[in-house]
Amino acid sequence: MQLLDPPIPEAVPARHRTRQARVVWGDRVVTIGGDAPVRVQSMTNTDTADAIATAIQVKELAMAGSELVRITVNTPEAAAAVPAIREQLDRMGVDVPLVGDFHYNGHRLLADYPDCAQALSKYRINPGNVGKGDKKDRQFAQMIEAALRWERPVRIGVNWGSLDQELLAALMDANARRAEPYEPRQIMAQALVLSALESAQRAQELGMAADNIILSCKVSNVQDLVTVYRALAARSDYPLHLGLTEAGMGTRGIVASTSALAILLQEGIGDTIRVSLTPEPGAARTQEVVVALDVLQALGLRAFTPSVTACPGCGRTTSTFFQELTQTIDQYLRAQMPVWRTRYPGVEQLRVAVMGCIVNGPGESKHADIGISLPGTGEAPAAPVYIDGEKVATLRGENIAAEFQTIVEHYVQQRFGAASRHPDRVA
Ligand code: SF4
Repeated sequence: MQLLDPPIPEAVPARHRTRQARVVWGDRVVTIGGDAPVRVQSMTNTDTADAIATAIQVKELAMAGSELVRITVNTPEAAAAVPAIREQLDRMGVDVPLVGDFHYNGHRLLADYPDCAQALSKYRINPGNVGKGDKKDRQFAQMIEAALRWERPVRIGVNWGSLDQELLAALMDANARRAEPYEPRQIMAQALVLSALESAQRAQELGMAADNIILSCKVSNVQDLVTVYRALAARSDYPLHLGLTEAGMGTRGIVASTSALAILLQEGIGDTIRVSLTPEPGAARTQEVVVALDVLQALGLRAFTPSVTACPGCGRTTSTFFQELTQTIDQYLRAQMPVWRTRYPGVEQLRVAVMGCIVNGPGESKHADIGISLPGTGEAPAAPVYIDGEKVATLRGENIAAEFQTIVEHYVQQRFGAASRHPDRVA
């Protein structure tokens, strides 16, 4: 057998070069862009005027892993509640920066409620919703002036559902005069990109440092999102906030968001992400954070929790034990992370395998840091356990799940605990 020469090139995410923005609250600094890891954001769906409910949800999102949390600031009551939300979070020891989402009246709210402007760490401005006609430039300028006064970065967040209609109409007119007009969809993409870039340019003319500007252009179709963000990335070096807007509910929303994010992130486009899922009735808002973390981890861009590789099962796994063990281990690992994250640095890189039978079980288990190959139908009732590629035990009987969990915990202590970081210890 001959080796392939040259070898097959590895797939690695590219890195789009951007400036770096800093979003700050107290001692907490979240960098976005440049060499910073891709950041995870989320948004509350509580009434911001209800300060307690909003603070609780912000805390839940932050605990789930959201590094920035955006809240709607749509009314005087909401603006008045923002300082109380911030105080409540600070009292709870939650230092996640808050981002204010403004539409239509942001210029007034930021001026009339200075404590709100100060409690927010970043302002989102939608150029399509800052005002119409001659008010548009003035009100946009007022928002930028507030950001300058409070030294806050801004996200210029264009959304095709609220695109600047005057800009779109002007581009449509220009297109109609062409001998061979472009497709309306292409004009829409141009309008989104131009709205973001021209607004950023205007913000800079008003004195905003380029480093304090983050751009987004959200649409709800995967291919359109890829088109628009490739164009944005080619034409600017602002950090980009990425997300498929109105992605929808359940698996449809998760798949659409993941598809769009994965394509762009692999190309190095995107410095911060949000997964805009519609929660199913009664479902936790934190699901959008879990999906965002899983996307980044699956792409190998970041690691948040130990990963569990599991086969899908087939006719060779006729009991539910294999699924139950997979679920138990996954839930166990996620539940340990709030403590493990600080106690066992690096534990998020751990790879566990739970496999259903002898076909791929031993092989996949050997590839993992720690793996178990359960007996399939007709196989001897024994489950070999592998650590770092070596078979170390064979579990049998009723307590396989508990014994495997103990082995995992012991492995984590040994490999990631303080003893393993002792300077005299040879790795
Ligand atoms: S490892 Fe075994 S049980 Fe799992 S999918 Fe493959 S053949 Fe089926």
